[in-house]
Amino acid sequence: MSKYDVLIIGGGPIGLACGIAAKKAGLSYIIIEKGALVNSLYNYPLFMTFFSTSERLEIGGVPFMSMAPKPGRQEAIEYYRRVKQFYGLQINLFEKVESVKKEGEQHFIVTTSRGQYEAKNVIVSTGFYDIPVMMNVPGEDLPKVKHYYKEPHFYAFQNVLVVGANNSAVDAALETWRRGANVTMVIRGSEIGRVKYWIKPDIENRIKEGSIKAYFNSSLKEITEKEVMIETPGGLITIPNDWVLAMTGYHPNFKMLESFGIETADNVKHCPVYHPDTMETNVPGLYLAGVVCGGMDTHIWFIENSRVHADKIVADIVAKHHYATAE
Ligand SMILES: Cc1cc2nc3c(=O)[nH]c(=O)nc-3n(C[C@H](O)[C@H](O)[C@H](O)COP(=O)(O)OP(=O)(O)OC[C@H]3O[C@@H](n4cnc5c(N)ncnc54)[C@H](O)[C@@H]3O)c2cc1C
Repeated sequence: MSKYDVLIIGGGPIGLACGIAAKKAGLSYIIIEKGALVNSLYNYPLFMTFFSTSERLEIGGVPFMSMAPKPGRQEAIEYYRRVKQFYGLQINLFEKVESVKKEGEQHFIVTTSRGQYEAKNVIVSTGFYDIPVMMNVPGEDLPKVKHYYKEPHFYAFQNVLVVGANNSAVDAALETWRRGANVTMVIRGSEIGRVKYWIKPDIENRIKEGSIKAYFNSSLKEITEKEVMIETPGGLITIPNDWVLAMTGYHPNFKMLESFGIETADNVKHCPVYHPDTMETNVPGLYLAGVVCGGMDTHIWFIENSRVHADKIVADIVAKHHYATAE
């Protein structure tokens, strides 16, 4: 079994950025991705628009051209696929990392759904999009409850409840309402959350004119086959319902990080411990990159501000192990 200088877990934008940085430094590396290339982006809503302009999503210095300043999901997928091809990145797709064990100095054994690898260093760039934040209400396990929203046509002429008030919730509410759904939103706070500036007036005006019904300072209490019960400031109400879009967010796989030996700073936000200059965790040689770093605060890190993790990590690996760099 050959031993890689670096094994990267996750083929999202930041995992790819780590692969590029490793390649540029002349390190041997492999990226292991459990799904398709940039699997999270692949599973985003079909018509989503990034809040970032395209140049802020660039990695490896490859220009990202988009029709409008802010690209859509499809353009981003095209871009990252071309980046993979441009750099000839070594990536195994549809292979899941199941365990990471440190066996000694510069010696990790990484077990996947297909076999085992040896690596001197491991980078965990597994994102947060695989595990939804659950509402923990009766009926949440019904098939009509969706934690991922793909596209609006499916919901046309149906009673749709959208839970949440951030970008994903507002996009889902507006898109489904425009395709003829009867949309109700249930919102914990007293106003629409941090959303893209150009959709804020749209949703606020749809609510003001009554096209989309919104219950603020409210929470979903129960879901049944044909109805939902909502606790509102005016009391408990029951409304007819066909589908619940629970846009309540996602979180990193804390159990997986813990099983790798990564400590967390607290038990509420589950922020993993790492050095901000090097991104190295409490386990020497085991690094974190991308949105996985944020714990429950998934809004802190995004592509824009976490793509720098790749160079920080590779600089640390090169400095520690005195590798000769290719550039
Ligand atoms: C709807 C939406 C819109 C967004 N818009 C923006 C934006 O405009 N600008 C911006 O900068 N950011 C945005 N973000 C955030 C951004 O998409 C994420 O920050 C980005 O995907 C982070 O990249 P990442 O590589 O850290 O994680 P991800 O892209 O989530 O990649 C992690 C990868 O790891 C893989 N993986 C997980 N576990 C394993 C395992 N055990 N074995 C192997 N592979 C594994 C996953 O399949 C996934 O492909 C948005 C996020 C969402 C949800």
